[in-house]
Amino acid sequence: MKQVYIAEDNITAQLMKDYLASRRIDSIIKGELLLGAIGEIPANTFPTVWIVEDDDYEHALQLVKNYEDGLSNEQIFNNVWRCEGCDELIEAQFTQCWKCGGERVR
Ligand SMILES: [Zn+2]
Repeated sequence: MKQVYIAEDNITAQLMKDYLASRRIDSIIKGELLLGAIGEIPANTFPTVWIVEDDDYEHALQLVKNYEDGLSNEQIFNNVWRCEGCDELIEAQFTQCWKCGGERVR
């Protein structure tokens, strides 16, 4: 289990969890803020998103980066390329495979 994202609030944490799930990465949210108690929460308490399988860590970090760059799922899914080394689908802005390190050929 590894932390991949610190969210500003519960909604953002849930969005990230859903986003990761859309790419077949299981995650959980820890430290969800209690609704209605915002004013009493210490400033350093934010919900965090953790992946369940450590093997997903590198991929999850890249997805988090996509998310923070403001890419929509459509933009990402419409611009994937397939790694010739391991057959994994890679998001367009990456020139290397996150899984096997293979270079993008085309
Ligand atoms: Zn690969």
